[in-house]
Amino acid sequence: MGEYECSDAVQSLVRPEVLGLPAYDPGADPDAVGRQYGLERVIKLSNNENPYGMSPFAAQALGRRLALGLGRYPDPAGKDLCSVLADRHGTRCDHVILGNGSENILELLCQAFIRPGERVVTQAPCFGLHEIFPLMMGGQVTKVPVTGSFACDLPAWRQTLDQPAKMVLISNPSNPVGSAFTWAELEAIVHATPLDCLLVIDEAYFEYAIGDPSYPDALRLLNTLQRPWIVLRTFSKAHGLASLRVGYGVASHAGLIDALHRVRTPYNVNQLAQEAAIAALEDVQHLVTSVALVRGEQARLSEALAQAGLGSRHRSPISCSSIPAWMRRRWSSACCEGVIVKAWRESGYRTFIRASLSLPADNDMFLKALLGSLCQP
Ligand SMILES: *Cc1c(COP(=O)(O)O)cnc(C)c1O
Repeated sequence: MGEYECSDAVQSLVRPEVLGLPAYDPGADPDAVGRQYGLERVIKLSNNENPYGMSPFAAQALGRRLALGLGRYPDPAGKDLCSVLADRHGTRCDHVILGNGSENILELLCQAFIRPGERVVTQAPCFGLHEIFPLMMGGQVTKVPVTGSFACDLPAWRQTLDQPAKMVLISNPSNPVGSAFTWAELEAIVHATPLDCLLVIDEAYFEYAIGDPSYPDALRLLNTLQRPWIVLRTFSKAHGLASLRVGYGVASHAGLIDALHRVRTPYNVNQLAQEAAIAALEDVQHLVTSVALVRGEQARLSEALAQAGLGSRHRSPISCSSIPAWMRRRWSSACCEGVIVKAWRESGYRTFIRASLSLPADNDMFLKALLGSLCQP
């Protein structure tokens, strides 16, 4: 039987919302790139991971759990981790939800709250899943573009929020742009958001941003407001536990968390992740040190890019959709190392790439490859 016949038969069964979904782009796989180009070393700068990895405390917790065995289901409520998080944030456990990564909580929020036709407002450019999950539920997504200098366009937000919306979904700092809403901007957006609209603030990069006094800690901003909101954080980025998949949300109302519990799978956060997350929270030293090192590299790279006539948020003179593959080709002919960055496949941003900061030697490799690639005819 022909493959097309078969897929046609399946296609008519699939919900139309699903057929229309854009695919999430996870970036190239370093092993596959290494094999394809015969490279000994491939560095992946496309996933915003912590180059210093997890805390040794977390590694010890994982060792202890492995010795005890993995034969039993995890605690479905994640009580221990929830209670540590509730204490830290001055709230109760019934205001905290754990997820298989914070992505999982974004998905649960859309499943529990978005009905077909309802509107979700986010910023453009946005984190892919901030659009994909609402669309999956048949929602409509309105994206408020950033200004020419990648800042928040407050008049455009106010105008958009004049219309009914079910959810406002903000990544602060923004992935992929990297800029952040200020206290005043976030406050203005919160006040412009209708009271019957759920505010979701995704703070995946909170730990990298909180040292900056202009960065608004959304929990502090929202804490006293009697309106529905949830703030999302993750152990995947600064805590260096991306592989374990664990994130959490702190919400305004226990009823909001209860709705999320109803749609989640009972064992969505595995036991290794729960225990490693608790240990990671205890290791303030590792967190502070790795954040400082990454921020130091950010300053160094920005300076180097500026010296080369490139801003760290810069439109390059060539189409960047080809750069990631192109950098790999160049490196494969010159030496035995490769660099993977993320191409930005979005209208208006095709001359952009997104590169994560890494260890100093990796960052140097990236700079050399990027500047080299821009000099090519
Ligand atoms: C990385 C990222 C996430 C997902 O984090 P996980 O906890 O690994 O699922 C969520 N939101 C934004 C904006 C991110 O960049």
